Amino acid sequence: MSRSVSVVGGGVIGLSIAWRAARSGWSVRLYDPSIGSGASWAAGGMISPLSEGWPGEERALEVGSASLDRWPEFGKELEVGAGVELFTSDSSLTVALDGADAQDLRTIAEWVVAQGRDLQILSRTEVRELEPMLARGVRLGLLAVHEMAVDNRLLLHALRQCSVAAGVEYIPRAVQSLEELDADQIVVAAGTASPSLWPGLPVRPVKGEILRLRSRPGVTPAPGRTIRGSVHGRPVYLVPRADGIVVGATQYESGNDTQVTLAGVRDLIADAEALMPAVGEYELHEVSAGLRPMTPDNLPLIGRVSDRVVVATGHGRGGILLAPITADATMALLEGSAVVEAEAADVRRFEKASMPDISRKS
Ligand SMILES: Cc1cc2nc3c(=O)[nH]c(=O)nc-3n(C[C@H](O)[C@H](O)[C@H](O)COP(=O)(O)OP(=O)(O)OC[C@H]3O[C@@H](n4cnc5c(N)ncnc54)[C@H](O)[C@@H]3O)c2cc1C
Repeated sequence: MSRSVSVVGGGVIGLSIAWRAARSGWSVRLYDPSIGSGASWAAGGMISPLSEGWPGEERALEVGSASLDRWPEFGKELEVGAGVELFTSDSSLTVALDGADAQDLRTIAEWVVAQGRDLQILSRTEVRELEPMLARGVRLGLLAVHEMAVDNRLLLHALRQCSVAAGVEYIPRAVQSLEELDADQIVVAAGTASPSLWPGLPVRPVKGEILRLRSRPGVTPAPGRTIRGSVHGRPVYLVPRADGIVVGATQYESGNDTQVTLAGVRDLIADAEALMPAVGEYELHEVSAGLRPMTPDNLPLIGRVSDRVVVATGHGRGGILLAPITADATMALLEGSAVVEAEAADVRRFEKASMPDISRKS
């Protein structure tokens, strides 16, 4: 008889785990009242662990790079399984608009290269040759040739299709307590709601607003790759899509509020224009907001918290990036082993998290 697992939460993390578990022969139930409606729906879709590197953040670089390495195969399997094209960009370019930003880019490049990863500094002229639609004031660029981006909504669609094909059973309701579930194993992957299912998990919501722009006839072409930058200290990015550009994202600590504010939209438009002046030609198609499940050290929480319960949450700003390694690490935990590259995400680093025992009643 196959072993059973209940996955609570159907965002990119829960869906990836459910898909992999079903393919490995587990009998899988996935609980979610509204699959794919959380942060995973709002996201930009960047897979950018190198451009976000910073000296001292070796553990984040290690986990992120290990997941980046897994993305081509993970994405390809989903593309073939669902018959869609997930990848919308195969590299990313971070640009500096002032001297301080240029110095930061040199610091990142030096450190990431010293960690054995590839990042290239581009001159102002090289940046303009690569992406002529960018602002003339750009001083320097940082090119990550293997940092791709995906359409996050197509990703959710593909994960769902492939999960169904692999035999995952969807239960469209919220789980109030893990004690309701009688599977052999349980995976908590409920994003910002995870602490309500396993009290003490150090996960808090961090709101992010994001714009979706659609192309119109005659507009200046979108960049050929993800463009990242910083304007008045606010990070901003443009991620290409088949039909336009995604512009993100604000960042606020405001509890579970997901309303889009005028100030947030104003800043995103102004900052996007500072990177690409012609962005105003595009249709403003959608504004939305999501809640990033953040942890105190910005690394996810992946680990076993009891004989029956594994948690996979707290992916903060990087849940799309980290889906492949999280699926591998969670499968390893379910099957009694471990993935070395995910050790930095071990939930036990926060020993204060209370660990209620819900050992199997039978
Ligand atoms: C604006 C924005 C931009 C982002 N851009 C990027 C990016 O470019 N690259 C990147 O890597 N990451 C990005 N992120 C982060 C990324 O979106 C998240 O880290 C990721 O989506 C988290 O996935 P998740 O599955 O853990 O959570 P979610 O997607 O939030 O899914 C959690 C699911 O759990 C369900 N749920 C909740 N409670 C229960 C319950 N009691 N029972 C059953 N189900 C329940 C919810 O309905 C939901 O579907 C961005 C986030 C935001 C907000």
